[in-house]
Amino acid sequence: MIVVDSAREEERLVTVYEPDPSIWTADFRAETLMRCGVCDNGERGPARRPYVEERDHRVAVVTAVPVEECPACGEVWIDEAVALRLDSLLTEMLSTETVAVRPFPETEATAA
Ligand SMILES: [Zn+2]
Repeated sequence: MIVVDSAREEERLVTVYEPDPSIWTADFRAETLMRCGVCDNGERGPARRPYVEERDHRVAVVTAVPVEECPACGEVWIDEAVALRLDSLLTEMLSTETVAVRPFPETEATAA
């Protein structure tokens, strides 16, 4: 599926899982949305990366997960909505299969 309003969605991106929340200021979304706060040496950009989860000797791989990535240090950010969908998908996969590989499900909320 092709999402056409990716530019608008981009403005609503809220990062989760920062390694250190204290590095962000209150207005980081306005000033440093694309600036890497980890190395301060690169600009975050949309990318697609596989996500691997291992639980109880079971492995699930979700491919083409929409993320933001810093090309300088390789830090990856996952949008909260993406993280929630990813987690529910992983839980479903790991409950039924020993080794599972699936593409990330495309929806209107995961434009990258
Ligand atoms: Zn970086």
